[in-house]
Amino acid sequence: VELIPVAEIEALKDEAMRQATVNADRINAVLDFPGIEAAFNHALSLKIPPRAKMQRFWEAADKLCKAITPFTACRNKCSYCCNIAATMTETEADILGKYVGRKPKKITQRVDILANIPKYSGVPCPFLKKGKCSVYEVRPLACRIHFNLADTPHFCNTDIPPGESVVPQINNSEIDRAHFQAFGKEVWADIRDFFPTK
Ligand code: SF4
Repeated sequence: VELIPVAEIEALKDEAMRQATVNADRINAVLDFPGIEAAFNHALSLKIPPRAKMQRFWEAADKLCKAITPFTACRNKCSYCCNIAATMTETEADILGKYVGRKPKKITQRVDILANIPKYSGVPCPFLKKGKCSVYEVRPLACRIHFNLADTPHFCNTDIPPGESVVPQINNSEIDRAHFQAFGKEVWADIRDFFPTK
């Protein structure tokens, strides 16, 4: 085998970023992003139980997902991002556990979320069945707001080493902030930590 010359890799990355810039402009022309962020902040402000609150977060995420997906590389039948780390909260794990009839693992120690990124790169989610999400209705927020803004999922392939990859994503910082403010006191861990493969 021959390795792809570095110059070609760099050109591919540049092209992915160029496509993402075009797609971000298209998204901004049609999407009320501040309105979406406001929906997350509204969910945060509600005095309701954690499960109901999480449902509100998911609903806001689904609005975002519906509006953005046509301008991304994310398509039905693509499951590359189900082979990377996916952090979820205890509430999400409880909802998912009820849905599948399996109790999530009780996690008592703090999980190093950042260390999970290399740990779970290339490791399929336990709920990925025949290339499809088997728990789509109750998938975590992380799965609902992960997009590749380039035109193709080329760089989502975990066979590509991280240093040679670039997956342009939307800036979720305001959503992450609201999510953390609402559920920051819970245990956060990867979906594979809560539901280890038997
Ligand atoms: S929960 Fe579903 S969408 Fe999320 S990583 Fe697992 S299979 Fe993929």
